Amino acid sequence: MSSLSERTSALFDWFFPSFCTQCQTPIKASQGICDCCLNDLPLLDLSTQANLLHRPDIIEFFPDCQFDHLIACAWYRPPFDNWLSQLKFSNQIYYKKALQQVIKQQLAASKLCCEHWPELFIILPLHNKRFLQRGYNQVAQTWAACLPADTINLNYLQRPKKTKAQSSLTKAKRIKNLQGAFVCKDDLTGKTVAIVDDVMTTGATLNAATVVLKEAGAEQVWAFVTCLTPLGR
Ligand SMILES: [Zn+2]
Repeated sequence: MSSLSERTSALFDWFFPSFCTQCQTPIKASQGICDCCLNDLPLLDLSTQANLLHRPDIIEFFPDCQFDHLIACAWYRPPFDNWLSQLKFSNQIYYKKALQQVIKQQLAASKLCCEHWPELFIILPLHNKRFLQRGYNQVAQTWAACLPADTINLNYLQRPKKTKAQSSLTKAKRIKNLQGAFVCKDDLTGKTVAIVDDVMTTGATLNAATVVLKEAGAEQVWAFVTCLTPLGR
């Protein structure tokens, strides 16, 4: 960063101070949470085992995963539940910044212990009608800034069918609800691709997307999610 942009940034912080979402300490405008609070967050440990599908406690909650590799930042619990719902329904920018700090930290930790890394990240799409109602895709808004721009794809998966909100359905109905939900018209032969979503509850949405991506030729499908919230936990 040049000294001019450093000075501009410092001036901006002085005129428009930002505060940590957790402890109200003054922080930089690019942050949503201070470093101390970030270090205190209850994150999943990805530094020794980045593939959470190798953790027996996680497999017990999600026994039917069709994807090959799972990376998640945290369980769906305070403060992440509040941040995600605030972001989804009111698009509060400081929660987005806090989540991006968490995601960047977790991506860096998992990358260090993975020999292989996806070449393409597919942000899970919303059906067009839901996108128009909300005006934004909160998954894309949060994750896009955390991944290299040339690896992100918003078009490989399409969602032609308007499905019911998964949160109102039982596990069996969630699977039925998603039949035919996704379409991939591209050739992904030999590629390792990652699907990105905010919350995984049964894995049914990620499984439905995985099947379609594997039918399109993907060799491996990874799932990257912000939070895990298994039914009945
Ligand atoms: Zn703080």
